[in-house]
Amino acid sequence: MKKTFVSYEKLKEIVKDYPTPFHLYDEKGIRENVRHLQEAFSWNKGYKEYFAVKATPTPAILQILKEEGCGVDCSSYTELIMSDKVGFKNDDIMFTSNVTPKEDFVLARSLNATITLDDITHINFLEETAGIPETISCRFNPGGDFVINNAIMDTPQDAKYGFTREQMTEGFKTLISKGVKHFGIHAFLASNTIANEYYPALARILFETAVELQRETGAHIQFINLSGGVGIPYLPDQDATNIYEVGQGVKKAFDEILVPAGMGDVSIFTELGRFVLGPFGHLVSTVLHEKHTHKEYIGLDACAANLMRPAMYGAYHHITVMGKENEPDDHIYDVTGGLCENNDKFAVDRKLPKIDIGDLVVLHDTGAHGFAMGYNYNGKLRSAEILLKEDGTTELIRRAETPDDYFATLDFSKWSKK
Ligand SMILES: *Cc1c(COP(=O)(O)O)cnc(C)c1O
Repeated sequence: MKKTFVSYEKLKEIVKDYPTPFHLYDEKGIRENVRHLQEAFSWNKGYKEYFAVKATPTPAILQILKEEGCGVDCSSYTELIMSDKVGFKNDDIMFTSNVTPKEDFVLARSLNATITLDDITHINFLEETAGIPETISCRFNPGGDFVINNAIMDTPQDAKYGFTREQMTEGFKTLISKGVKHFGIHAFLASNTIANEYYPALARILFETAVELQRETGAHIQFINLSGGVGIPYLPDQDATNIYEVGQGVKKAFDEILVPAGMGDVSIFTELGRFVLGPFGHLVSTVLHEKHTHKEYIGLDACAANLMRPAMYGAYHHITVMGKENEPDDHIYDVTGGLCENNDKFAVDRKLPKIDIGDLVVLHDTGAHGFAMGYNYNGKLRSAEILLKEDGTTELIRRAETPDDYFATLDFSKWSKK
């Protein structure tokens, strides 16, 4: 059974101060989880987690991760600005973008962030726009299917990201000729993968490629970035990734491939978003309406604008009806938001206890790619974000939007004159 990280009693207190809907984050859980991750990779001297800002672009969350020794992985201009404001500096910032605008490269260079190039043509583009740094990383896309234990995990051949294998060699040679001294290799081949074998399998591909590239081009390979993709158990019957097993699997590949090639000093980097934050967020909502037509509907004060994953991917997010954890799941509901879109359903045909108007409902695992994917369709406003701190107190870390925020980019003066 999936449990909420906040008790019903505590949540009843919190909603007295903050109206629903809001995203709630668990500071204690975040810190403990990051420490496990770091311990799992502590065998590697240079190991560092660069949290993928796009998963949870909230300064107070980035601050917690900074205190835990993480860097950040940015993909856009505003993520770079946010990271700089929170105090991440130089090598603490990775910039892994694609279809990159000129201004983004200029800002990344001025912050001295480590740039990951997505394409061979970006070498000249970067040189012309911001100049080539001494340390740079290239994103690799091996093509084909990415297979673990005979199962296709994802299809890199269809992914827009990265250099082909031939382009990696050519790109490294070109970059060396332009003064690059130290290289990184990056790849992201499968998303939300809870199989413990994902990172070790990816590592094997990248380590072998690193050895080849070193031999072919003489490049000094300083780091290998396994990027994101380690999944979390959204479903109640799924097992969580065992991050210690993952760390040991990567170590085995490292010892077998890099160490014998004299490359035992390579640093391992990760850019995990979902694994680091996902389980430590809840979307807290109140039941506004019930509706009995061709199906039984429960309508919440949250909608897909607060959590897009179910509407976008049909993703499962577990639901707990607070105070009814021990009641039988003997009702079948579609749990919906109020957008004028029929895919605005957090759950379809979900077995749940009998739900009443006013019940507090928690949607689990919204800590990553939750609030972040929010939008303003139907004029819906973004919710607040609240941090449940280690001492049990709460802090408003982002206020809810108001109609004024929604209208901030418009000028009504033409109509308000008379
Ligand atoms: C989205 C993204 C991540 C994080 O992915 P998760 O699935 O949240 O771990 C890491 N690196 C890059 C380049 C990304 O685009």
